[in-house]
Amino acid sequence: MRLTDNRYANEKQQFELALRMIQHEARTRTIKACTGLSDDRIRKVYTTYFRNTGQDTIKRRRGKSPQQIGLFVKCPRNQLEATTLVAVFCASLLLRVDRANKVHICWPRPDVEFGHRVCRAFETYVLLHPKHAINFEWAWNLLQNISRNDELYLAVCRQCGGRYVQDAYAIDRRICPSCEISNMHR
Ligand SMILES: [Zn+2]
Repeated sequence: MRLTDNRYANEKQQFELALRMIQHEARTRTIKACTGLSDDRIRKVYTTYFRNTGQDTIKRRRGKSPQQIGLFVKCPRNQLEATTLVAVFCASLLLRVDRANKVHICWPRPDVEFGHRVCRAFETYVLLHPKHAINFEWAWNLLQNISRNDELYLAVCRQCGGRYVQDAYAIDRRICPSCEISNMHR
């Protein structure tokens, strides 16, 4: 039965994404937005696969995603990591930057493919910054926030010409975090 096969394939994808997102400690609300699974099913995935399995390090997070932007611009290191994430989001075709440096989200609304792309982007960022300061939910927040072109924007460095994540309400010295870090060590 083709219809049943398709339904099974869809459920498998939803389920695999839920597992992947739980491993990144994504919030139930975020998992729900991407997978379309109910709270109850997400809870079951969590209890079946992560509770009493020795993988006690994985926490189940509830409530809303963090909303503030302070973490991304707190220090050059975090600013550099936020910039890496935005670059990886662009490479994953989740975001697009236009000629005026405005950021646009490429996905009308979250779905399973979107969720897998966000996971893959986050995993790439973690490989590049093993002691990463930004967790999955903060990365999710950054993805939404940067595409609003409101509190955060892409500034251009006067030293190297590179783009970097900057707070729209902060005084911008037009030095990107990479240049700032290398200037400190000079
Ligand atoms: Zn620079």
